Amino acid sequence: MKYLLTLLIIIFEVPLIFSQPGDLAERLMNSHEKYKESSIKNRRFKHKDIQPLITKRRSNNACEISKVGESFEGRSISMIKVGKGRHTIMAWSQMHGDEPTATMATFDILNFLEAKGDGFDKLRKTILDSTTIYFVPMLNPDGAEKYQRRNAQGFDLNRDAIFLQAPESKILKELQNSIKPEFGFNLHDQSPRYSAGRSGNKVAVSFLATAYDYPRSINSVREKSMQLIVKMNRDLQKFIPGKVGRYSDDHEPRGFGDNFQKWGTTLILVESGGYAGDPEKQYIRKLNFMSLLTAFETIADGSYSKENKDKYEDIPQNGRALFDLIIRGATVNKDNKSYRTDLGINRTEVNYANASKFFFSGRVEEYGDLSTVFGTEEIDASGLTLTAGKVYPTAINSIQDLKTLSPKDLFKQGYLYVKLGSGDASRLPFGSLYEQHFHFLKPGKSPVTKSPELGSAGTFLLKKGNIVKYAVVNGYAYDLEKFKTSTGNGFIE
Ligand SMILES: [Zn+2]
Repeated sequence: MKYLLTLLIIIFEVPLIFSQPGDLAERLMNSHEKYKESSIKNRRFKHKDIQPLITKRRSNNACEISKVGESFEGRSISMIKVGKGRHTIMAWSQMHGDEPTATMATFDILNFLEAKGDGFDKLRKTILDSTTIYFVPMLNPDGAEKYQRRNAQGFDLNRDAIFLQAPESKILKELQNSIKPEFGFNLHDQSPRYSAGRSGNKVAVSFLATAYDYPRSINSVREKSMQLIVKMNRDLQKFIPGKVGRYSDDHEPRGFGDNFQKWGTTLILVESGGYAGDPEKQYIRKLNFMSLLTAFETIADGSYSKENKDKYEDIPQNGRALFDLIIRGATVNKDNKSYRTDLGINRTEVNYANASKFFFSGRVEEYGDLSTVFGTEEIDASGLTLTAGKVYPTAINSIQDLKTLSPKDLFKQGYLYVKLGSGDASRLPFGSLYEQHFHFLKPGKSPVTKSPELGSAGTFLLKKGNIVKYAVVNGYAYDLEKFKTSTGNGFIE
């Protein structure tokens, strides 16, 4: 019969309606686009952007919206309650203002839970009948406003669980006290530069079953965190094999995660990390969507209790820092001496336009022997000499001027720097320059003329004899044999 069916499919291209649906994690990943909150497209959204998403739910009988307090600067903090089951779950996001990935996923999950007739009704019923979920998206709206970790007082809210001097921390503590949730999801973002253990794999998602004491004891509350993480890890491995990490479980007596666990709530810390080619973390948002929904399902049906907590320890720890770009074995000529070095370059995000946008600043952050670490991108520069780039002789005064300059042609001639004219240049839209590929110099600025060292800007040439092999501008490397550009690499000095 099976053989016949296969034959039918091959011959008549019968749609695969007879096939078993994929497993839940896979189905959720495949359908995320349908539920993705379309008004949030990148990470630098603000408090005002999520208010319509909260208020529009006031008319929805399946949700209960409440204002649970205000931030230091007076921005409202809201809670959205769904479900009517006996297992209580609290999930808060963005207690660090520049860690928004799970806030995006929270609204996707709400969209999902409110849909129907899409093949997921059974899952929805399981979750909403057996759990009550309290979502608190964007706990630190003042931090989000400036796209910074800390709140408006300069407090790291995750070190204020006992001190309770920030209004946002008081809100979180009072909610724990009044709801006494059985489960808590503390949703963060971590540096995109952790490796999974000693591998070169960038960690996309990491977990922590927070420790409630220094000896890192395991009671039944913490054991359940570990079991849930084992289940969540297994689902994630299908999509990001080898890219799930585990945060150090050193006890932090001031942290909320550690204290929730101590206060009797099974706490799962989720950290969204990095994924190559996903600077706005939209793929990681999708992973959060899937991972949290499958976690809610396993809480609803109790199946997590069959997981072996010891497998938690098998998840590799967040390891050494990865660099965005490593250049290996470049030759440096300095003071009539010649030597070899590796260069570790990172591109740091710098906010502008009221933290609604950012540009990258690429710098040489490590120098010397980097054989023990990895780069997300690597260049073998053996036989190539590190040389300073040249300044293009004519200043530009408009975007029109810039359009006449071909990055490839200029790079080949060694020109990496372009001067901005002193007249109209001050009116050049900086945002457009960041989208370009040159290292721009404001009037009066001059570039480093020697080869780069530790701390220098990531702008230089790698040459073989007189031929430019690579142009590196602001930490982005352009291979001149296989030249291609992408947007958003420019820098203004
Ligand atoms: Zn955080």
